[in-house]
Amino acid sequence: MTLAIMSALLDEQRGLLAQLVNPQRVRRAGRTFWCGQWGGQDVVLVLSKVGKVAAATTTTVLIEAFDVKRVVFTGVAGGVGGGVKVGDVVVAEAFIQHDLNSAPLFPRYEIPLYGRATLDCDPALSAALLAATHVGLAGVGEHFHRSLLLDAPEVHQGLIASGDQFVCDPVAVTVLRADLNAAGHEPLAVEMEGAAVAQVCHDYGVPFAAMRTISDRADAQAPLDFSAFVTQVASPYALAVLGQFIKHL
Ligand code: SAH
Repeated sequence: MTLAIMSALLDEQRGLLAQLVNPQRVRRAGRTFWCGQWGGQDVVLVLSKVGKVAAATTTTVLIEAFDVKRVVFTGVAGGVGGGVKVGDVVVAEAFIQHDLNSAPLFPRYEIPLYGRATLDCDPALSAALLAATHVGLAGVGEHFHRSLLLDAPEVHQGLIASGDQFVCDPVAVTVLRADLNAAGHEPLAVEMEGAAVAQVCHDYGVPFAAMRTISDRADAQAPLDFSAFVTQVASPYALAVLGQFIKHL
């Protein structure tokens, strides 16, 4: 039951890679896959690459060439839901593509020929990831958050919206939220890969769960200190959460 751990950014992957026992490097489709064991589990670590098409290709290769039976994703995202602040974590319940619009042929956001706009994550795998997030973040400690001037992180669970845009404009966020709300969707966070991974996993019947640390509020500040945030906060979070997750699989 090989587990794939996908990360969006190299910096996030580095700490995970250090945990890998007997790491084997395999190149495929211009990507580097790291196979090995962690906590007694067979795992494959890979970078999703950025954007929906890249992430879909990576997921397909994981399933077809590495026979993974479960996929978990860690990355960063912009917070767009009320009360979702920088440093919080969102565990995905479902994904939607905020930039998918085949109206009037299909209702806005609906994935053509799927008859639905949202794709759910696997409930059991997501529950395990949520539990691991709570325990993992508690282990990171209050002193860590204080030293970075962050409030204690809150953990949210809900809808994440993916699209091929780095959202960094409050007007764009307002429109994105209003349009999604009008169609009955309430996104907590915005990023660029999750919905694509969810769709490929859906097609293959492979359980999928995802967590995103909120790196920004998708406003003009979003590009600032992005890499510092990934190094200082998102990477230690990913390591702490996945360390717990692996233990209880
Ligand atoms: N600087 C990075 C690229 C970052 S792209 C590099 O050189 O590799 C932004 C990444 O963070 C994407 O993987 C996306 O999923 C996520 N993300 C974080 N905040 C986001 C936002 N406000 N809008 C869209 N994606 C965001």
